[in-house]
Amino acid sequence: MTGGPLPAPARTRRVVVANQKGGVGKTTTVVNLAVALAQGGLKVLVIDVDPQGNASTALGIPHQQGTRGTFEVLLDGTPLSDVVIESPEAAGLLVSPATIDLAGAELELVSVDARERRLKVAVEDFLRDHPADFIFYDCPPSLGLLTVNALVAAKELLVPIQCEYYALEGVTQLTRTISLVTRNLNPELQFWAVLLTMFDGRTRLASQVAEEVRSHFPGLALETMIPRSVRISEAPSYGASVIGYDPHSVGAKAYRAVAQEIAERAAKEDA
Ligand code: ATP
Ligand code: MG
Repeated sequence: MTGGPLPAPARTRRVVVANQKGGVGKTTTVVNLAVALAQGGLKVLVIDVDPQGNASTALGIPHQQGTRGTFEVLLDGTPLSDVVIESPEAAGLLVSPATIDLAGAELELVSVDARERRLKVAVEDFLRDHPADFIFYDCPPSLGLLTVNALVAAKELLVPIQCEYYALEGVTQLTRTISLVTRNLNPELQFWAVLLTMFDGRTRLASQVAEEVRSHFPGLALETMIPRSVRISEAPSYGASVIGYDPHSVGAKAYRAVAQEIAERAAKEDA
């Protein structure tokens, strides 16, 4: 059912999943890659950086107002180790929950010292005593201070792109933000992977878009594409990943294949 053990990277991969375009599959990707990698025996931490808290929901993590999580880490300097909760989806999968309070963090951070580096400091602190193979940051659909904190705390950027018309629109703006961040705040950030999501094999358009994206990002686009699937869209309402909800569905298989690809991509870089 699960794909067997996955290779562990020699150093922690800190993957920021970002795209300021809404609804392209950022959260679905974070949730399912995290579950697949953890089921493959790896240690995974998901940091929910989106006030919507969708990743927390899908990973079965309570995140009602008052729950300590990413907000307290960013604003109060609370250690990550005090707020993370293990997901019922997989052993070895920890989650820092996002509450609606995070919506205010965007503004509150403005007056805070070293406001772009709060998350990076917290993550480095955490990693000293809690080794992890993969960290995923689930970003909101904007390029504000929350996303910037995630971009600064990361080394690998993974961009999900929905296979539809206008797919590449907005990517130019994202690319511009990334180069600003690498120039001024985090020279270690690298554009690491592109994942094509919601691929509908029945339409010519989807194939054309997929091809266009592949030629726009040579070497970055992952081999596996995520199909458009009803099971994937149903899973969050059960507080589950599609891997937990229907492990034999095409969506679950696709995300396990992507997890395998990125585990191998990381291992190859380490070799
Ligand atoms: P936001 O920008 O609001 O954070 P997002 O980029 O995180 O959105 P998701 O929440 O992952 O995007 O997905 C948007 C919607 O599309 C959700 O309802 C999700 O369940 C659904 N969805 C994601 N991937 C697929 C897929 N492959 N097939 C069908 N539905 C999908
Ligand atoms: Mg989301």
